[in-house]
Amino acid sequence: MKKLVNENIEKLVPYKVPKHDYKVKLDANENPYSIPEMLDEGLKEELKESIFTTLWNYYPDSEAYDLRKALAEKNGVKEENIIMGNGSDEIILNLVLTYLNSEKSLVIHPPTFSVYKIFAQVVNAKIIEVPLDNSFELDKDKMIEAVKRDDAALTFITYPNNPTGNLFKEEVILEILENAKGIVVIDEAYFEFAKKSFIDKLPKYKNMVILRTFSKAYGIAGVRVGYLIADTEITDELNKVRLPYNLNKISQIIALKMLKNEKRFNDMIEEILAERGRMYKELENVNGITLYKSDTNAVFFKCDKAEEIFSELLKNKILVRKFSGNMEQFLRISIGKQEDNDTVLKIIKKIV
Ligand code: PMP
Repeated sequence: MKKLVNENIEKLVPYKVPKHDYKVKLDANENPYSIPEMLDEGLKEELKESIFTTLWNYYPDSEAYDLRKALAEKNGVKEENIIMGNGSDEIILNLVLTYLNSEKSLVIHPPTFSVYKIFAQVVNAKIIEVPLDNSFELDKDKMIEAVKRDDAALTFITYPNNPTGNLFKEEVILEILENAKGIVVIDEAYFEFAKKSFIDKLPKYKNMVILRTFSKAYGIAGVRVGYLIADTEITDELNKVRLPYNLNKISQIIALKMLKNEKRFNDMIEEILAERGRMYKELENVNGITLYKSDTNAVFFKCDKAEEIFSELLKNKILVRKFSGNMEQFLRISIGKQEDNDTVLKIIKKIV
């Protein structure tokens, strides 16, 4: 069997989510609040009604039209500028399938979201890695040099970045956009927490793509909904690659309901931001921790005792994100509910 597999796939290490015994999950930048628990009876009934009256035996709307229409209105673009995905992960895969092959290059800025590189390896694309500098800012000159290359077909800029949490300087990204020969994806997965976007630059940069998700601020990571906003020159091509029924009916219904009632969930976002502020203040003064400013729903820091902190938190059934290789002294901890954040702080202070 082994000989049948493509060489590049054989060499790949799969994206593995480690299995741990935990009660509090703070490792994947999910929302700590359970949406169904927050719905009032009226909204819950409406949702149940929609889910049980939609015809499960028939395929979903392959274009997710209602959802795209609502998103188009919200973002001031047209429906044809929007593509839905089974999570933004799927859209990343479709971008890779549409724009990369073994003769073309992906440009990324490690440390960043690992999925971009994995998918590029699936299609055997060349990968140009331009590491962030010591303060996790983009290396402007090297990025520009990379995106200027004829073979640089696809670039991902994560804004704010994951795992480091920071927003790169706007003027640096604009210079990269000015120079890019290929498609530049601005991955705004954490937009609702950072409240900063490149969306108003879309008319100017036709090669730019905005990527968003319902998995973070909207709190429905398990429902798998992401979307992309771009010029129709891009969405027309992506639609050739997208699976015909990629967004199931139940996900379309839930995402639309979230969107129509989004004002009700604003308090939840503000609560997470307030908790992030509190975590930051508390950790800032801990000797032995180098804390980085975060615009996501997580805190990110460096500490000699990262491994010990990880283990002690896990003993207390709290799972956080640790890293390997040259990042093994770093931890990323998603913002949780107040009492869980308190436990995290207590344990960190005890160890460091
Ligand atoms: N982009 C970034 C920067 C992320 O951090 C994540 C999730 N961790 C994703 C994309 C994928 O999100 P989803 O597939 O859940 O929409």
